Amino acid sequence: MKEIRPGIGKRARGFLRDWSLPRQLAGQSSASDAARSTQSEALRPRLEQADKVGTVICPYCAVGCSQLLYARGNQVIHVEGDPRSPVNAGTLCPKGSATAGWLNSPLRETKVKYRAPHSDHWEERSLDWAMDRIAYLTKRTRDETFVEKLPDGTTVNHTLGIASLGGATLDNEENYIIKKVFGGALGMVWIENQARI
Ligand code: SF4
Repeated sequence: MKEIRPGIGKRARGFLRDWSLPRQLAGQSSASDAARSTQSEALRPRLEQADKVGTVICPYCAVGCSQLLYARGNQVIHVEGDPRSPVNAGTLCPKGSATAGWLNSPLRETKVKYRAPHSDHWEERSLDWAMDRIAYLTKRTRDETFVEKLPDGTTVNHTLGIASLGGATLDNEENYIIKKVFGGALGMVWIENQARI
């Protein structure tokens, strides 16, 4: 029999094939076989393309949620919470869930940017150059501003010329080292952490 409208028979057959009611009436379970359609059969697991998975700690805040990073080659394709973690039990907040997005963002900065005093533009420098520069300026400022005794003779051995503001992702051990090196060795007084803000 000739179809009245081209394709209408095909659409009707597809509708009957994907409509679960006839299959449920025929005895298929609504929770399994009868729930399948052409579209759902074509769906693939979102991690099927990953060829490796690693564990990391979310770098965003001091909660320290555990993450599973799925990658294909060197490309991170998905991030989700690690269900084995007693900290986050498989969950992630929106920031942690967005990790793959900012890892792969074309706007992500991967090089040190330096703007010289009185300059109106940024220059790219190597990480080694930046570390040497920071060490040089820290030592110079510390030497220029170090105070051994106050005018009344009180021994202080400190500098008020440098301050440290740590990130919230610094853990106990890193903060311990910062306190020992910056405070104990260099004499810095103003040592603060973003986690307290
Ligand atoms: S997932 Fe959210 S709460 Fe957990 S460490 Fe990352 S930013 Fe913090």
